[in-house]
Amino acid sequence: MSRGVRFYEHGTLTYQVPFPDGKCTCVCCPFCYSEHGLERARCRITGEILLYPHTERGQICPIHFSKED
Ligand code: SF4
Repeated sequence: MSRGVRFYEHGTLTYQVPFPDGKCTCVCCPFCYSEHGLERARCRITGEILLYPHTERGQICPIHFSKED
C-alpha cells in the first residue's frame, strides 16, 4: 500500500515575459489574473493582490530587467 509522496525534488524555472511596447505593468503580464467576483487583480506567481495593475508591477514582482542591473 502506498504511503504517499516520499520526497519532492525542486526545479527552478527561468522564463522570459514579453511586455508589449515596453509596458511593464501587471496588466500586460500573462501571470496577472482577475479574481472573479472580487474585482481585483492578483499575481499567479506570488499570490500578491495587485492594487495598481494598470500602472505598476507588484511590490514583490519576481521579474527583473537587465537594464535594472
Ligand atoms: S507581479 Fe510581476 S509576475 Fe506578478 S503579475 Fe505583476 S508583473 Fe506579472
